[in-house]
Amino acid sequence: MCYTLYMKALVYKDTGKIELVERPMPVLQSDRDAIVKVEVSSICTSDLHILRGFVPRANKNTVLGHEFVGEIVSVANAVKNLKPGDRVSANCETFCGECWFCKRGFVNNCEKGGWELGCRIDGCHAEYVRVPYADTGLTKLPDNVSYENALFVGDILSSGWWGAELCEIKNDDLIAIIGAGPVGLCSMLSARLLGASKIIAIDIDETRLEIAKKQNLADYFINPEKSDLCGVIKDLTGGRGVDSVIEAAGGKNTFELAYKIARPNAIVAVVAMYEENQILPLPEMYGKNLIFKTGGVDASKCSELVKLISENKINTDFLITHRYKLDDIVEAYKFFDTKSDGCLKIAVV
Ligand SMILES: [Zn+2]
Ligand SMILES: [Zn+2]
Repeated sequence: MCYTLYMKALVYKDTGKIELVERPMPVLQSDRDAIVKVEVSSICTSDLHILRGFVPRANKNTVLGHEFVGEIVSVANAVKNLKPGDRVSANCETFCGECWFCKRGFVNNCEKGGWELGCRIDGCHAEYVRVPYADTGLTKLPDNVSYENALFVGDILSSGWWGAELCEIKNDDLIAIIGAGPVGLCSMLSARLLGASKIIAIDIDETRLEIAKKQNLADYFINPEKSDLCGVIKDLTGGRGVDSVIEAAGGKNTFELAYKIARPNAIVAVVAMYEENQILPLPEMYGKNLIFKTGGVDASKCSELVKLISENKINTDFLITHRYKLDDIVEAYKFFDTKSDGCLKIAVV
């Protein structure tokens, strides 16, 4: 006898339109697949970007969501390191681990993957999800790491870590991080661990600066709407500018701010996702010799990040400010979009 089981899933119907529907349970499709029971997931700003129609590669009628943790229920025969019952965190990127890009750690540009889950194939805002290339896309959690402890490993923590790594931090570096949202905050804690001597947190949202202060993630806290950012940075750096900048805000003028506060020969790491083109005034900045690094996270350090969490060197629990049930996920999306009530991240359980 053959029958189909159904589950609840949040589907991206069209620009501005999502719906919680019944969907057939995912099944193993190729020999490196795993099926994961989603225990906790989160909503990412990238999900909102899809919903607003700003992600051309997104497929309609796809289950959204790419940030989650859960338990493996089945694995296909070529999956070697995982078995049913394993607790795992998921990578936001799907990658084969074998192609030219993967071998060099550039997994975002995997020839067979990239941002697939919740974009081109069904994602995690459902009860179950199929994860392709499970052995590269899932990281086993040690017993002392809870699901919520590891919720952000594969996406925003990876993004923050990657942004900090792009800066090639040296021990006496002063790093400015624009945007004290979830990725910016993760960049701050990563920059600290990677050896930055001082960190400047920049945001126009006082609540977020407060969080950075309370979590001891930065040393200076600047709201550019309230003080002269360039002036303060000049004072702090003997007029030079900061040694590197992580732009994690993606606001209307934050790209411009990023290269303005950088000292000559600094690295400007652009981790933010913009909804419009940005202007790079090359004649004006000629001779400043900046190094720009841009893009989508190469989330290839998940095992290291899980290890750091397990050793209590990283803790991202403070990012979970709100909790919703999967049944109420449409409501959760609406609320997340308002960024109100001090919301940083929502855990969907
Ligand atoms: Zn994301
Ligand atoms: Zn690959």
